[in-house]
Amino acid sequence: MKREIAEKVKEAGVVGAGGAGFPTHIKLSSPAEIVIANGAECEPLLWKDKELMRYHPEEVVEGLKLAMEAVGANKGYIAIKARYESIIKKLKPHITPGIEIYPLSNFYPAGDEVELVYEITGRVIPPGGIPPDVDVVVQNVETLYNIKRAVDGIPVYEKWVSVVGDVEKPLTLKVPVGTPAKEIICLARPIPKRYAIIEGGPMTGKIVDEDEPVKKTTAGFVILSKNHYLVRKRERPETAVFKITQFCTQCTRCTDLCPRHLLGHPIEPHRIMRSVGYNLIKGETIRDVFYCCECSLCEFFSCPVDLSPKTIISSLKAHLVDEGIRPEKKKGGRVDVEKKGRRVPLSRLLERIGLSKFNVRAPFLDIEISPREVIIPKIHGSGKPGQVVVRQGERVKKGTLLVEFKQGIGARVHASIDGIVEDTKGRIRIRKA
Ligand code: SF4
Ligand code: SF4
Repeated sequence: MKREIAEKVKEAGVVGAGGAGFPTHIKLSSPAEIVIANGAECEPLLWKDKELMRYHPEEVVEGLKLAMEAVGANKGYIAIKARYESIIKKLKPHITPGIEIYPLSNFYPAGDEVELVYEITGRVIPPGGIPPDVDVVVQNVETLYNIKRAVDGIPVYEKWVSVVGDVEKPLTLKVPVGTPAKEIICLARPIPKRYAIIEGGPMTGKIVDEDEPVKKTTAGFVILSKNHYLVRKRERPETAVFKITQFCTQCTRCTDLCPRHLLGHPIEPHRIMRSVGYNLIKGETIRDVFYCCECSLCEFFSCPVDLSPKTIISSLKAHLVDEGIRPEKKKGGRVDVEKKGRRVPLSRLLERIGLSKFNVRAPFLDIEISPREVIIPKIHGSGKPGQVVVRQGERVKKGTLLVEFKQGIGARVHASIDGIVEDTKGRIRIRKA
């Protein structure tokens, strides 16, 4: 049965629905003692995980049981913020021996895998490592819901997404994969005349245009005025970001609050800023950029002079990867004794980044979204694209296999609507029949 679960998950094209998009069948092939269902949803404003747990608690718990069976785990946790009591109440009747609900406090980034594993088990994933290094597997709650559906023979062709921020009606929807952002954003009724769309959360997401399709990894779209701090800072040209690094006062606040540094990982953003400021971009300090999880706390919260350590780090990371340098797994240091006291409460983060007034529930609206056209990427997250198995002009049905994946890291892709394949060169375009 263990192998059968991973095989069905592979057939259904399940990937991590929390953002990274790692193929789930590969995660399910490592043995582990513990599986953690990640329902922390720590990115401000997003609600899709919470609404999914509210409306499909049974499927989430069933998915967790299947994941536990696949990896041979004897313990499962559902991590959810303690403040969502009404959702915990919905989950409780489905809990069976071996599974526990783990109530989290409301800090950022509670949902980061490394943070979550430490919080629940006290185990520190080594720098450059993954949860199976400490006998744990972490799966987002929507991924678990998709595991349950995969075992029932349903491929991944729908996605839960929230539309939040500066809108009249924040909401969460279930939409066909490939639906253009504009088709669902209009339902939330954006307020500003000129607005930016951030795909993902406000801390880690990126600005996209209104034609951007929903992917298997899209958690939501955050609508913010073009003048909002989070938009203006994201739009700062990279040359300017590097240039103003010379204004770094070396106050070390970015390092003092860095969640990975506090866990003993070798990342000290203030040192990276110093190296960049003095044009000393070489050596071990720079290679340590690989141990940053890109949570953006240093960029949007910590820095008192509004510099962008995370953008600098991401850029250096990309540069090292281009040069063929890869992160090495290292031995971590000691967890900082002040770690708990230096956590950033979500309320303080919201205030600092100007999102407090948008912090309201985005309830699930159970309506059918039926786009005229879907644009489906051949790859959703990590890995390589597989082989397209449909031709232009071919008629497909919801669930028809579009992209096959046999070897390596990657996942299958399926049609999300009934229609005619219009294009297969870049992203696969299907027009409603
Ligand atoms: S983004 Fe900044 S705060 Fe977050 S892990 Fe990286 S260096 Fe640390
Ligand atoms: S918080 Fe800002 S000013 Fe302080 S060390 Fe970090 S980058 Fe420099």
